[in-house]
Amino acid sequence: MKVLVVNCGSSSLKYQLVDMTDESVLAKGLVERIGIEGSILKHEKTGIDKVVIEKPMEDHKVAIGLVLDALVDEKHGAVKDMSEIAAVGHRVVHGGEKFNESVVITDEVMEAIEACSELAPLHNPANLMGINACKELMPTTPMVVVFDTAFHQTMPKESYIYALPYELYENYGVRRYGFHGTSHKYVSERAAEFIGEKVEDLKIITCHLGNGASLAAIKDGKCLDTSMGFTPLEGLVMGTRCGDIDPAILTFVKDKENLDSNEINDLINKKSGVLGISGVSSDFRDIENAAEEGNERAQLALDIFDNRVRKYIGSYAATMGGVDVVVFTAGLGENSISNRADICNGLEFLGIKIDKDKNNIRGKDAVISTDDSKVKVLVIPTNEELMIARDAQALLK
Ligand code: AMP
Repeated sequence: MKVLVVNCGSSSLKYQLVDMTDESVLAKGLVERIGIEGSILKHEKTGIDKVVIEKPMEDHKVAIGLVLDALVDEKHGAVKDMSEIAAVGHRVVHGGEKFNESVVITDEVMEAIEACSELAPLHNPANLMGINACKELMPTTPMVVVFDTAFHQTMPKESYIYALPYELYENYGVRRYGFHGTSHKYVSERAAEFIGEKVEDLKIITCHLGNGASLAAIKDGKCLDTSMGFTPLEGLVMGTRCGDIDPAILTFVKDKENLDSNEINDLINKKSGVLGISGVSSDFRDIENAAEEGNERAQLALDIFDNRVRKYIGSYAATMGGVDVVVFTAGLGENSISNRADICNGLEFLGIKIDKDKNNIRGKDAVISTDDSKVKVLVIPTNEELMIARDAQALLK
C-alpha cells in the first residue's frame, strides 16, 4: 500500500509518498509560495537528484496537480499511475474536543474541521484547502486526517482546564489542547520499542525541541499533560514565541507601547523567544555560535531556554509520580549535543545521568544516558509523516 502524506500550510505544502510494505519513502517534496509570485516545487525521488519546478501556482489545487504530475513522471516519478496511491493522509492542526484519534474523511468530518477553524485560524483553513484540492483531483482515493491535538485528548481535566471563569471553557472552548501530538506519540512509542519495553509500562517525558517546542508527560502510553495550551504559544521558550509569561505583562505593554491586539500577538508570537532575548536570531545554530563568540545575551537565551525545559521535566516527573524515560526529538533535540547536556545537567537528583560519549550523536535513535542512570535518556528522530501514513493504513484496512 502506498500512502501520500500531505501537510498544507497557507502558502506551502510538504508531501511524502510512503510505501507501507517496508515503510520506505519513495519520494518527497516541498511547494512554497502558493498564491504568491515565484511559486516553486522541489521534488525528490529517493536516491535521485532533486528537481525544481518553477511555475505559477495560484492555489493549492494547482500545486497538488503539479505534485501528482511529478509523482507519476517517467523520470523522477515514483509510481506509474495515480491509481497506485491507495490513500492520502492529511495533517490537520486542530481537532478540538471532537477528535481523539485519526479518522477517515467524510462530509461530517470536513464540517467538524471547519468548526475548529476558529481555534486555529492560521492553520485549519489551509489544511482544508489541501484536503479539498486532493478530493477534487483524486475523487476516488480514500483520505484520512491526523490531528496534532488528538493524542493530547486523554489529558485529565486538572491538566486542561485553566483557572479562568469556567464559562469561558463552556462557551468558547477555552482550554489546553496541546500540539505536536503526532510527534509525541511517535517518539514515545518508538522509544519504548527501542529499549525493548512496552509503552503501557512506562512514564515518559517527550521533549519536542524545534523552532516550536513542547513537552508531554506520557504515562501508560497516554498523555497526562503537555506544555502547549489553547494555542501553540504556551510553555517552553521557542524560536520566536515567548512561552509562559505573566499574562499581566500583555495589558501593561499594550498600554505602554500603545499597541493593538494584532501587534501584541505579533510581539509574543514572532518577536519573542530566543530571538527576542538574544537579538541575534531565532535559529539555535546562530545563537549557539554567537554564545561561543562571547555574546552574553545569546548565552542568556540558551540558559533561559534550558532552564524552562528543566523546570517542565521536573514538574512532569511530579505529575506522573516518577519518570522512566526522557526523549529528545525535533531539530534541536535531535542535533544539539550541548543543549541536551545542558538541559540534563542538574537533573541527577531525578536519576538522570547523561553519558558524554553516547550523547555525541546527531539525528539517530540512541540511548544517551549512562548504564547506571535510573532514567533512560534517548534521542529519537521524529517522523510525523510515517505516523500519518501508519494511521491511514490502519484506518483503511
Ligand atoms: P524544527 O522546527 O524541528 O525543524 O527545528 C528547527 C530548529 O532546530 C532550529 O532552531 C535549528 O537551529 C535547530 N537545529 C537544527 N540543527 C541543529 C544543530 N545541529 N545544532 C543546533 N540546533 C539545530
